[in-house]
Amino acid sequence: MKIRVGMGFDVHELETKRNFYLGGIQLEGAPKGAVGHSDADVVIHAICDALLGAASLGDIGHHFANTDERWKGRDSKYFLREVTRMVNDKGWDIGNVDCTICLEKPKISPHIAAMKNVLAPLMNISEDDLSIKATTNEKLGYVGREEGVCAYAVALLQKS
Ligand code: MG
Repeated sequence: MKIRVGMGFDVHELETKRNFYLGGIQLEGAPKGAVGHSDADVVIHAICDALLGAASLGDIGHHFANTDERWKGRDSKYFLREVTRMVNDKGWDIGNVDCTICLEKPKISPHIAAMKNVLAPLMNISEDDLSIKATTNEKLGYVGREEGVCAYAVALLQKS
């Protein structure tokens, strides 16, 4: 069996009076939401880059440029479905994905089950093969000042 790992990172600015899309769901009652060309879902964007990286398929900006009108306001679940297809087309199965969200507010733990429930099927993996974790940034830097949200992801691909 051949295996490959990939890593991804994404960051988006936070603004008041914005819907906050994170991990494929909308966070109700969040004080701010992420700003971007698409729906600015950093969890999905980081996972897409981890998968693309493991398969040597470039990055999300290469496939879905933030200057392309087709992707304006786009639900990022579309990108994850497409990236999964690209990775599968190259003969890779997704082994597991691990993601960490860095956000000061609100607390993410109550939403993790819902995120896994939405994202795992898009990658054709079980919820047990998708880990989503969260941490604050201890009030330090842009995350600590609630100016932005970021996410890291690692993905393992396998081919027999
Ligand atoms: Mg992004």
